[in-house]
Amino acid sequence: MTGGAGFLGSHLIDRLLDQGHEVICVDNLFTGTKRNIDHLHGNPLFEFMRHDVTFPLYVEVDEIYNLACPAAPLHYQHDPVQTTKTSVHGAINMLGLAKRLNCKTLQASTSEVYGDPNTHPQVEEYWGNVNPVGPRSCYDEGKRCAETLFFDYWRQHDIKIKVARIFNTYGPRVHHADGRVVSNFIVQALQDKPITIFGDGRQTRSFCYVDDLVEGLLRMMETDTSVTGPINLGNPDEFSIRQLAEMVVNLTDSKSSIDRQALPPDDPRQRKPDISNAIDVLGWQPEVLLEDGLIKTVEYFRELLPTLRTA
Ligand code: NAD
Ligand code: UDP
Repeated sequence: MTGGAGFLGSHLIDRLLDQGHEVICVDNLFTGTKRNIDHLHGNPLFEFMRHDVTFPLYVEVDEIYNLACPAAPLHYQHDPVQTTKTSVHGAINMLGLAKRLNCKTLQASTSEVYGDPNTHPQVEEYWGNVNPVGPRSCYDEGKRCAETLFFDYWRQHDIKIKVARIFNTYGPRVHHADGRVVSNFIVQALQDKPITIFGDGRQTRSFCYVDDLVEGLLRMMETDTSVTGPINLGNPDEFSIRQLAEMVVNLTDSKSSIDRQALPPDDPRQRKPDISNAIDVLGWQPEVLLEDGLIKTVEYFRELLPTLRTA
């Protein structure tokens, strides 16, 4: 599991260990943290390797989940060249490993491959509307190139590939300062600080709870076909950013006001997955309602924030 000390990776590792698998967590701890995997030390099935996926990796494994890549705009724009390298060199290195071991490899791709989409909801056949030279391009184009590499390794080298296009996912262990909307709003609300809505707040996103997403990734890896995907994994329930702000304020009983700020460049206006393929191929669809997932995420941040302030 590359990126295993991150938000999604650490939850996926928990599930794989529960199923009795041995897991090597490969991470350079750029945005991931040891806190996410602290509870696993001492587990004989678990091993942590500090490693940057832009360099080749030599291990013996049966399956590869390639999740290494900063996911939040604030993080991936911090060092955009490294972000592209992580997606592209990281994919080449993991696919090279898969070729040597002849093992299945899953790529954590993203709804960002659709850019600011002109079709709604987004179906996998849609090729996207992506700015190749903007501040989000390092991530969007890096992930698009990684998908290309996965399909070329399959066509050229017969590697079994799984490509999941993940839509906005949230839950406990999401980074508290990654600037993403769910973590930002919850942290601001719990501190009674103004909620920062970018633009008019009418832009939409569809938020998937982490447990649902992890189940989707596990089902993708279980498929036995040589190519699975690209398949959208996400929750099709669509909310405006303003609606999200109102829900978070209500759930936290916060006194926060609303602080309207400028919309970042290339910010997609709307995003909602068409998950027909996930339902047909994987028998998968999300089960957790946004309000229920937010309650669990708020609980996590209520416990985390005091420890950060005294740290
Ligand atoms: P995250 O930032 O919490 O996790 C990413 C992990 O990758 C971190 O632990 C980080 O330290 C590690 N990493 C980054 N660069 C690395 C490198 N060069 N070598 C080794 N490790 C490296 O983000 P996340 O939300 O858990 O996302 C995991 C994956 O899922 C990413 O590939 C992301 O693009 C994808 N994804 C996530 C979402 C979402 O909403 N969370 C949506 C779409 C796609
Ligand atoms: N957003 C916001 N306030 C914030 C953080 C984000 O209004 O404090 C908006 C952002 O402009 C975008 C949406 O919330 O329209 C989702 O942003 P996020 O960074 O979480 O993810 P992405 O844009 O990659 O979907």
